[in-house]
Amino acid sequence: MILGLTGNIGSGKSTVSNFLLDMGIKIFDADIIARDILNSEDVIKEVSNIFGNEFITIENIVDKKKLKAEVFTNKKKLEKLNSLIHPKVKLEFIKIRTKYIGKKEIIVFDIPLLFEVKLDKLCDLNVVVDIEPEIQIKRIKERDSLCEELICKIIESQMRREEKNKLADIVIENNGTIDELKYKVNEMIKNIK
Ligand code: ADP
Repeated sequence: MILGLTGNIGSGKSTVSNFLLDMGIKIFDADIIARDILNSEDVIKEVSNIFGNEFITIENIVDKKKLKAEVFTNKKKLEKLNSLIHPKVKLEFIKIRTKYIGKKEIIVFDIPLLFEVKLDKLCDLNVVVDIEPEIQIKRIKERDSLCEELICKIIESQMRREEKNKLADIVIENNGTIDELKYKVNEMIKNIK
């Protein structure tokens, strides 16, 4: 049983993912997979070709901070980077899926862009962690100490919560306490088993 897990920034997706990990559930994290891909030799070469050698450090790895800053302000470049990385991430998830498909064991695909890159199609059940915007902004402020303006910009750049919730099989609402969230996650797993 493959669970797709997603949620917009500050929704509590990572917190839910950690609860699931504590329950002994295997988590396959798209951010970690993407990071490993970016560290692979072939991709380092491709980044150098596409973006320029100044994005490769003297240790011959991708300067992620510099690249992030570059694509954050340039949509075309972000699309280029995504078209380099996303298909490789997808392939990795397809490989993992073939290993687990049809098995009773619950595993989780933790993917921020689950619906946007259509990886929800690889999952048996898709779970969205949802949050009210006011609480979302407050929690991001506390976690990342970013200004409200930037937080709102990031939120606006993401798929609308209503749209995500509509695509979900299960919505975990996270407007309450951590304990309430933990209880909901436990109940969800109990009901799936
Ligand atoms: P995401 O991974 O979706 O960006 P996080 O799981 O990092 O979100 O949660 C955002 C912040 O809110 C973190 O600092 C986390 O500890 C905190 N948080 C998450 N859920 C709750 C909750 N129910 N009550 C209080 N704080 C929470």
